Amino acid sequence: MQFDFIIVGAGSAGCVLANRLSADGRFSVLVLEAGGSDRRFWVQTPIGYGKTFYEPSLNWMYTTEPDPGLGGRESYWPRGKVLGGSSSINAMVYIRGQHADFDDWRDLGNAGWGWDDVLPYFRRAETSSRGGDTWRGDGGPLWVNDVSASYHPLNRHFIDAALACGLTENPDFNGADQEGVGLYEITARGGLRMSAARAYLRPAMKRSNLTVLTGAHASRVLFSQRRARGVEFLHDGAIRQADARREVILCGGAINSPQLLQLSGIGPGELLREHGIPALHANDAVGAHLQDHLCVTHYYRSRVPTLNNRLSPWWGKMLAGMQYVLFRSGQLSIGVNQAGGFFRSNPDRPRPNLQLYFCPMTYTKAPPGTRPLMRPDPFPAFLNGVSQCRPTSRGWLGIRSPDPLAPMKIAPNYLSTEEDQREMVEGVRFLRRLAATPPLADIVESEYEPGLAVDGDEALLEDIRQRADTVFHPTSTCRMGPDPSSTVVDERLRVHGVEALRVADASIFPTVTSGNTNAPTIMVGEKASDLVLADCGMK
Ligand SMILES: Cc1cc2nc3c(=O)[nH]c(=O)nc-3n(C[C@H](O)[C@H](O)[C@H](O)COP(=O)(O)OP(=O)(O)OC[C@H]3O[C@@H](n4cnc5c(N)ncnc54)[C@H](O)[C@@H]3O)c2cc1C
Repeated sequence: MQFDFIIVGAGSAGCVLANRLSADGRFSVLVLEAGGSDRRFWVQTPIGYGKTFYEPSLNWMYTTEPDPGLGGRESYWPRGKVLGGSSSINAMVYIRGQHADFDDWRDLGNAGWGWDDVLPYFRRAETSSRGGDTWRGDGGPLWVNDVSASYHPLNRHFIDAALACGLTENPDFNGADQEGVGLYEITARGGLRMSAARAYLRPAMKRSNLTVLTGAHASRVLFSQRRARGVEFLHDGAIRQADARREVILCGGAINSPQLLQLSGIGPGELLREHGIPALHANDAVGAHLQDHLCVTHYYRSRVPTLNNRLSPWWGKMLAGMQYVLFRSGQLSIGVNQAGGFFRSNPDRPRPNLQLYFCPMTYTKAPPGTRPLMRPDPFPAFLNGVSQCRPTSRGWLGIRSPDPLAPMKIAPNYLSTEEDQREMVEGVRFLRRLAATPPLADIVESEYEPGLAVDGDEALLEDIRQRADTVFHPTSTCRMGPDPSSTVVDERLRVHGVEALRVADASIFPTVTSGNTNAPTIMVGEKASDLVLADCGMK
């Protein structure tokens, strides 16, 4: 099997590359995807998020090492193992990040990645239901939908309380400025999830020059001297190989791309030695600099009905189900995080450093290992969550063995800096202030978790350590930068120290962006495709 390009992983970025590189028919492209088809009801249906969250046939279902920052708890890390990758199982919130995030990327030595450089790629990717303008796109494959008309009226209480606390209302987090509170837009169209597979891969799969192999688990990049010449993969119980005439592009995501590099002899020298893998290029940065967003949630019993009241009784579920089946609308067609925003924990901050999530429903009584979004708590309740935009803690990941099927060791090192501890405490202090401010205060019966008895910086931090968890945004484990000893890829996403090998996914983020990570990963896929084509003399 010989192709011009081999793409490993059909996730948020991989699907974009598969589409763009195969578009003009000149190049043959092979996509190797370890997971299976995305033609599954619970993948397509937004509320299916609750089902796919713990579904082993669609999800890598990773678990981190016990984390000292979380009081020794392990953290469950779902990742999509299916066409579309994590965009097929995510919560669909569409957030690009702050303009300054990308200027930071550029200023770290990555020419071509400043906000003005990446904005055209965000716009090229998108069709916004609001129409296009200076900021938003209107001709791209990825549909971004304003579904605010379907959102629960309680979101207004959240927004008005935030305004009363001095925040501003922002009608578009993805426009001129991210700061403020408002309603989240989602990647969906016609009541169905708009994954990267639906947006980019499915339309391209009709092309004869694109081959997509599912159930194909890449185990190693193959090299001739220092040049990537192909990929070894497991498929149908056999070890197979495919050759790449031009390039191999890793799009396995922030956990699996560094894994594949390490398995292929590109990684920390000591780790490779420990597992008997001959080092092709020793680089301590492969798997290092792991960043993620950690979120803590406060739960409130409500004096007025919430979504719990609508979805708890059998007839409520039936009505919601009928509305979805008949009209592809209603609660089953939208996401769980409806309102939120970005704010500064104190005025000295140059830009927003915290993100808010408001959800007009709760599922605190769910049995462990389940996320029953259609079976919320049987009493009126809602939740507020807060996470840092740009945490300073850094974790790492490394192979446990040379076995490509063995899961990585993941050490997030949450809350390992004083700055992160302080910001998170400032965040929950704001949640308390918000809940005590009308009109939200008017509907709060009580804060039942953690409860007002938990007070004072130390107790609040301890509560964060006991209850906070990932919002599933790991990045930066193959980070981009000019220094080959502390970064993994250069500004054209070429892996330092070897040839014909790139990484293009959330692992290349030099730093995590402020907000949810799907949109910037799709942007990385868009820009990567231009870089690859330009290096073939095509742009
Ligand atoms: C539960 C959850 C909720 C989230 N919610 C949101 C949200 O609301 N909004 C948002 O913006 N972001 C959200 N995210 C994050 C966002 O979806 C990810 O940041 C983004 O999808 C990452 O894209 P990627 O291309 O880096 O990797 P992925 O999309 O994870 O793709 C990697 C692909 O590579 C495949 N692969 C990996 N290893 C191999 C191998 N060895 N061989 C072959 N194939 C392989 C995987 O199966 C997968 O399909 C969420 C993520 C999760 C898991």
